[in-house]
Amino acid sequence: MTASPVEVPEQVLRTSIVERLFARETDARPLFTHQDHSAGVDNTVTWTEFVSRVRVVAGALREVTRPGDRVAVLTGQDLNYPLAFFGALAAGLVAVPLMAPAGPSQRGRLTGVLADCGARVWLTSSAAAAKVREAGAPDHLIVVDELSGPGVDPLPLTPESPAYLQYTSGSTREPAGAVIPHRAVAAACWQASRAYAVDEGTTCAGWIPFFHDMGLIQLLCLPVHAGARSVFMSPAEFVHRPVRWLRQLADHPAVFTAAPNFAFDLAADAAEEAGDGLDLSDVRVALNGAEPVQPRTVARFQEAFGPRGFRREAHRPSYGLAEATVYVASAGEEGPRGAVFDREALAQGRAIEVPDGQGLVSVGRPLGQLVRIVSDGAAQPDGLVGEIWIHGPNVASGYWGRGDAAAFGGELDGAGGWLRTGDLGVFHRGDLYITGRLKDLIVIDGRNFHPQDIEAVAGEAHPAIRRDRVAAFGVADEMGEGAMLVAEWAKNAEADVKEVTRVVLRAVSREHDLTLRSVRLVPSGDLPRTSSGKVARAAAKARYSRPRG
Ligand code: ATP
Ligand code: MG
Repeated sequence: MTASPVEVPEQVLRTSIVERLFARETDARPLFTHQDHSAGVDNTVTWTEFVSRVRVVAGALREVTRPGDRVAVLTGQDLNYPLAFFGALAAGLVAVPLMAPAGPSQRGRLTGVLADCGARVWLTSSAAAAKVREAGAPDHLIVVDELSGPGVDPLPLTPESPAYLQYTSGSTREPAGAVIPHRAVAAACWQASRAYAVDEGTTCAGWIPFFHDMGLIQLLCLPVHAGARSVFMSPAEFVHRPVRWLRQLADHPAVFTAAPNFAFDLAADAAEEAGDGLDLSDVRVALNGAEPVQPRTVARFQEAFGPRGFRREAHRPSYGLAEATVYVASAGEEGPRGAVFDREALAQGRAIEVPDGQGLVSVGRPLGQLVRIVSDGAAQPDGLVGEIWIHGPNVASGYWGRGDAAAFGGELDGAGGWLRTGDLGVFHRGDLYITGRLKDLIVIDGRNFHPQDIEAVAGEAHPAIRRDRVAAFGVADEMGEGAMLVAEWAKNAEADVKEVTRVVLRAVSREHDLTLRSVRLVPSGDLPRTSSGKVARAAAKARYSRPRG
């Protein structure tokens, strides 16, 4: 149990991100830079240029909207995105950060979310307009880079007015829209700026999608909040050539970057291509979050880039979720810390350190909010696993258009309004460890298994398997409760199916004392993933747990 000693100051909560943006209207420094690798150019706007364009977008919006309207942001990951997003906020409306669909595979999620939020007005760019029109016909489609005309002043906002709807990734269900009020944006930016020491000299650099909470805060809101600079590329351009991220980090001063664990593996794979001249000594912070942080990845990344100046302390395992705007906890200036726990005890809900067992990386300590581990309605002491509950100004005001008592109405210590995250965790030596998700928990004969632990073992078991493309889930049939595993073949892998299956079965049995009901190998790219690239376990289970035929 840990009380956070530092509270977000009232004054911070009362100052909206829009006020902060307009306060720097005369600043001639660069604000946003989009690295466009397909065109081979960097496009930059200064604060002054940006604010004057935001005024124009806000003016156009004001002509066609009513207070409370949702405005969908549907551009590519380029300079039009922050323009559309802040334009909606300056007009006092509720932004819905989405993304222009790149291909048909993304259209399903988009259609669902657009219907859920009921946005009458869509903002797009001339480059994305054709694809966006295929996604539907709103009352008003505004192309932000074709607007001209006089701008308007921003509307005054209250701390509780909703700034945007943050849709969750959809790992365990259809994405839900967390309603993020302005005070929560301010709180999240303050938390991140404190946790990662972001100030006017910082370059917020990266590529995570803006429709994801981590990308939206790290690359768009935080730079505006802190008076910093943002340099970004599109997620596709990173995935296509991960070395671009490394060069971006090396090319800018005082860098703060963020990415999910799998990206640190991709980057390590690209170390050789980056060459010995790569210098990562001015990367101040590399946040690793949004999915489980693997001890092996932290070690690999350090092996690859320690010799190129990357400081181990810069690696900051972090935990957060959309319902808390983004930030919950992170490792501090000492860098990643971990512990090895007794597997059997952990499965029964107790964290006991042993010399040989399950290694976990801690996500550090919370800042600016209260975090409790809760079981049977009561806060648990250090060492006991339970659901992670959160109370603070960064917590969303609810889900858009749904009942939210279950997630947002937790009662604890005589106070209501606790967010039940659905994540399982434990405090150990004052540090928070994420041990799994309630919904994904696999229970077999009274023993608890976390799918990500099984996936991590399977992913490392054989080189023919893609490390981060593995899904484990519970199945029940006439034989009772069991677990099955689906794994993607690594690209160009050549190996015998029986041999790979045998190696995986043996590794999982050895590490977890669990005999998998079945192991299924599927082609590369086959496993369902969320929009932000996480394994969508519920969807995977629905697809593969039925008998083949
Ligand atoms: P949905 O709620 O729609 O099923 P999601 O929970 O994946 O999807 P996000 O809010 O984008 O959507 O992701 C937050 C979740 O990601 C957390 O609740 C947690 O389960 C997981 N997560 C985030 N950071 C970490 C971390 N460092 N270690 C383990 N899990 C993490
Ligand atoms: Mg969630």
